[in-house]
Amino acid sequence: MVTCLTRHPEYSEETAADFNEIAQTIFFPIYPVIAHQILKKTDIDSGLCLDVGSGPGHLAIALATLSNLTVFAMDNAEPMCRIAEANVAKYRLEQRVRPVSGDVQKIPFGNASMNLVVSRGSFFFWDNLSKGFAECMRVLKPGGRACIGGGFGNARLREEIVIRMRERDPSWEEKRCDRYARCNPHIIRSALAAAGIFEYDLVDDDTGYWISFGKY
Ligand code: SAM
Repeated sequence: MVTCLTRHPEYSEETAADFNEIAQTIFFPIYPVIAHQILKKTDIDSGLCLDVGSGPGHLAIALATLSNLTVFAMDNAEPMCRIAEANVAKYRLEQRVRPVSGDVQKIPFGNASMNLVVSRGSFFFWDNLSKGFAECMRVLKPGGRACIGGGFGNARLREEIVIRMRERDPSWEEKRCDRYARCNPHIIRSALAAAGIFEYDLVDDDTGYWISFGKY
């Protein structure tokens, strides 16, 4: 079993609300940038999309807004799902973004059901990376793609966020670097191999740290 050692304590009402506040202020500009990058990279614009570890749902909302996709915003923390529901209603996207409670270790969707699987900022917390990647692959339709990673879209946004988050929490950057180090490319490659995934792209650049693979 390939494990990622930074298991996040499941979000409570309070910590989920705190993350939502960050997502809708400091992080807010990154979501349309990342959604645009994913849509451009995968060239998938319609059908069904699963956002794994969607938190309050901002990436799912941006993807639905910029495409014709119907997006399932899945998270294993109930308080996050409730906040995602409220955020989706605020944007009147109830028909296009569906919050779902579920764990990446056992995704509650059938084989070959999704055109696109995305995930931002979540895999650092998965108990079993290889099982998570295998589940993402399982639910992809033939021709479907997965983009799983973390980051802030571009260098300018990352720098602005680092400054604002440093003011808010002086240990934030250290925790972020620690998470990256514990899910380094060697660990990711081992987990992908254990999941039987040998064809993939792994980039670590100004866009962030992203793994993408597809089903043929
Ligand atoms: N993707 C959102 C974003 O970019 O704003 C939220 C990122 S937040 C840092 C990580 C999220 O992953 C949390 O909402 C957490 O509950 C979720 N998560 C962690 N482990 C998970 C798992 N095994 N299955 C589903 N969601 C998970």
